[in-house]
Amino acid sequence: MRKYRIGVDLGGTNIAAGIVDEEFSIVKKASVKTDVAGGAEKICRDIDSLCRSVCAEAGIPYEEAIAAVGVGSPGIIRDGVVINADNLRFSGVPLAAMLEKLTGKPVSLRNDGNAAAYGEFATGCGKGHSSLVAITLGTGVGGGIIINGKIIEGSGGGAGELGHTVIRAGGRKCVCGKTGCLEAYCSATALIKSTVRAMQNNPDSLIWQVSRSTSLVSGRTAFDAMRLGDPIASGIVAAFVSDLAVGVSNVINLLQPEVVCIGGGISHEGDTLISPLTDAVIPMLCAPLATKILPAALGNDAGIIGAAAE
Ligand SMILES: [Zn+2]
Repeated sequence: MRKYRIGVDLGGTNIAAGIVDEEFSIVKKASVKTDVAGGAEKICRDIDSLCRSVCAEAGIPYEEAIAAVGVGSPGIIRDGVVINADNLRFSGVPLAAMLEKLTGKPVSLRNDGNAAAYGEFATGCGKGHSSLVAITLGTGVGGGIIINGKIIEGSGGGAGELGHTVIRAGGRKCVCGKTGCLEAYCSATALIKSTVRAMQNNPDSLIWQVSRSTSLVSGRTAFDAMRLGDPIASGIVAAFVSDLAVGVSNVINLLQPEVVCIGGGISHEGDTLISPLTDAVIPMLCAPLATKILPAALGNDAGIIGAAAE
């Protein structure tokens, strides 16, 4: 019988599970809300149920056809244990062992940013390359480093936290408690904050045509208003790109990977983001640009595929 693996992307809002075949394609996927208040045991039961139900929906026999389950979780991961994940309220949770008992399958556990990076590396924008660094611009800024086909997890499981590399000493306060982190400038959350502040300060800005209320602002709003020719929006995007370029150039000066993959909803801007970003990165490099800066290709599927990978 053909063997599949199940990849689980465990997030603070949703749990997504997908059956992944040997060519890294998702055969079927499903998701449920994450019951954070229910605690680790409830979350494990929900993951187990989801793995079994997605197989039933796909007509794939769970017991015979599923070789293993892989989970991508937020937080610092070491030896199958979630050392610390604030948005799940996990501290020292032996997630892999708990899930092995329930699922009856070998369970591997990795950080969600690392999983997403591996997914893009295996079958997304990094396919055919040997090294990739992923920077995911979402609620926070996630990261993952793949060198010579291997995830760099660090000596204590904490590597690849690119969102918390400092781009401006003494700068904006970050949710991690430090100041000046890339995440405080280049997450979708930060971009939304900048956009809202600009709207409040500029009642005549065309941003108000794109978003009639500050509560409706998204990471796209400033880009859309820029396309309408609004100078305030252009300024927001330029500042965002310039800050992101500092983060990306630090990565390239440090590792010079073949690919830097920019993910998250904002990456759907494609060339509108990537082209000025690349232009801003080049003057900050110490060597000629030998890295492809590319938008992510797989969206949310990257986390599932990367979690499932051996
Ligand atoms: Zn931080």
